[in-house]
Amino acid sequence: MEEMPFSDISYKCFLNQEKLMGSKCKKCDALYLPPRPICIKCHSSKMEWLEMKGNGKLSAFTCIAIGPPFMTAEGFDRKHPYCLGVVELDEGVRIDARIQGVDANRPEGIKVGMPLSARFLHRGGEGTVRTFLAFEPL
Ligand SMILES: [Zn+2]
Repeated sequence: MEEMPFSDISYKCFLNQEKLMGSKCKKCDALYLPPRPICIKCHSSKMEWLEMKGNGKLSAFTCIAIGPPFMTAEGFDRKHPYCLGVVELDEGVRIDARIQGVDANRPEGIKVGMPLSARFLHRGGEGTVRTFLAFEPL
């Protein structure tokens, strides 16, 4: 695992295995998700992989009625909006992800600060599976 480059490709590869992996700077402990090969705080390239536990809380969100084609293909539209959020993980990093298990037609019921846990959504067929990160209320 240590030999994998700290790239988007590695990140997605880990998502396929239902692992949420970030990179941690060995010099100053800064944490990056998705992973970065070079620390933007101290410019060190000494990074190590760190698996996130996948628990956090909702930091911000928006409900989207008109999404990109791949979301429309999943059945989301004006009548069936979906929720995108920024989740602050227990490890202290923030990540954008789809929030499921909430009613995007009733955004007033979605609360900033609500505890969430990670889910891995596998989409596509044999050989072309892509995994998307989502979070669900606990
Ligand atoms: Zn650093």
